[in-house]
Amino acid sequence: MRDNLKDVWENRFEFFRKGLDEMSPECSECSEKEFCAGGARHSFDYDNLRQRMCFKDTEVFECSY
Ligand code: SF4
Repeated sequence: MRDNLKDVWENRFEFFRKGLDEMSPECSECSEKEFCAGGARHSFDYDNLRQRMCFKDTEVFECSY
């Protein structure tokens, strides 16, 4: 039996469509979330709902202003 792609997308991947800043308590409170949105998905710790690599205190953010 084959799965319907539309059904799979709409019903099984909702977790991955949510913004990381919505999932992480730390990111949801962050003043930089408008620019960062919780950072990269490949470095997000889904088990502990936190970003492994936060650039907030690095020169990357200092250079963007
Ligand atoms: S800067 Fe850090 S704490 Fe703020 S939203 Fe990005 S990853 Fe989260």
